[in-house]
Amino acid sequence: MGDPGERLLAWIRLLADEVGPRRPTSAGERRAAELVRTRLAERGLEAEIEPFRGYSTFAGPFGVILALAVAPALLPRRRRALRALLSSASVAGLLSEGGLTRTPLSDALSRRPSQNVVAAIEPAGEARRTVCLVCHLDTSRSGLLFDPRFVRHLTPWLNAQSAACVVQGAEPVLSRSPVGRGVLAAARAVLAVGLGLLIERELRGEDVPGASDDASGVAVVAELALELAASPLERTRVVALMTGCEESGLLGARHFLRNRDTKGWLFVNVDNVGGPATLRYTRREGLARKWDCDPGLVAIADRIATERPQLGFEPSEGPIGLTYDATPVLAGGGRAITLVAGDDGVIPNYHWPTDTAENLDPACVARAHAVARELVVAVDRGEAD
Ligand SMILES: [Zn+2]
Repeated sequence: MGDPGERLLAWIRLLADEVGPRRPTSAGERRAAELVRTRLAERGLEAEIEPFRGYSTFAGPFGVILALAVAPALLPRRRRALRALLSSASVAGLLSEGGLTRTPLSDALSRRPSQNVVAAIEPAGEARRTVCLVCHLDTSRSGLLFDPRFVRHLTPWLNAQSAACVVQGAEPVLSRSPVGRGVLAAARAVLAVGLGLLIERELRGEDVPGASDDASGVAVVAELALELAASPLERTRVVALMTGCEESGLLGARHFLRNRDTKGWLFVNVDNVGGPATLRYTRREGLARKWDCDPGLVAIADRIATERPQLGFEPSEGPIGLTYDATPVLAGGGRAITLVAGDDGVIPNYHWPTDTAENLDPACVARAHAVARELVVAVDRGEAD
């Protein structure tokens, strides 16, 4: 395993082929965490497994939100107070879950064991800053939502559902007029389809091998962490964070942020860098609500993109796909950026059974590794201070 490209692929095969699907809170996710910790230890980097409580699918919280929004349509009109209560509870759930900082609904649903893998690498000199390399161990599930024929409409569809949810929250006003009731019915029809799609995914979806999503990110973070452990940075502490339950609601990242003082840390998240597609860095993240990525990290990425055209490294104005583990960092006022490979707003093989080791582009993973390394080295030089 002398070739760095081979070493990256070995991590991807370990997770996508040997472990296979790694549904949040499942035995597969647990096994992935243990295997990664063992392989890191064999090469001299000690990592901890940090347990937390999570749930297996985003259909949990969003099913509750959508059901609350649709339910008033099934109640008689005279039940005004109950209809208004359900519809506003739905909006409150959407706003809190979407805000990613205080999330009582997903906290209440977090009952099953999951885990993060965390390793810290001290610098050669005195630590002046911390950079956290992030990736996720778990995988998603297919379903009509992620069907390659429709996936380019995923973000507009989710935004339409958020808008419909907010509109139905005006139940007390809208229910007073025939036009308003028509608007309510239309909004709830959109939300009922959304609820149907969540159920369809749970019943008919297939847990995917997750070679690009996100075994590719694990490969980049693991290899880079091992390299930096062997030859530490000057003044930057490095923390490698491999999360669980990213796919069900960024739960591992949120657990980590709640339980550590990460003020001032720089988060470099690596998610879906398998391609085949253009390797990009996010300038903004979030779906209905958006947050700007860290200007210092974006400036370094801009410079790498300009100075090294052979990397084919380009910005993405928004997220490609959904939210990432870096998004709750940004939502909490922190500093972060994500590396992700995609074109025209689409990640190849996204949440689909074709997300296998055979279908990714090893050169794209190698480029992500090179870019992540340059970012971290630039941070160590103080370029993001
Ligand atoms: Zn992912």
